[in-house]
Amino acid sequence: MKDLTKTFACEVCGKVFKHPDSLRQHHKAHTGETKCPVCYMVMSRKYELRVHLRKRHNIIQ
Ligand SMILES: [Zn+2]
Ligand SMILES: [Zn+2]
Repeated sequence: MKDLTKTFACEVCGKVFKHPDSLRQHHKAHTGETKCPVCYMVMSRKYELRVHLRKRHNIIQ
């Protein structure tokens, strides 16, 4: 059985992380910071969003 006391759960979607930093990073997905303004796909990092915009939509930011 997993020890859930050592994990950090997102209070918005319930996703569980092992590190508080990962949870903080993940929270940006809910604030819209990493959401693609074109297709509304949500990335876990701002860097991924920049790559996504460039590759998918040819947008350089
Ligand atoms: Zn979440
Ligand atoms: Zn997109």
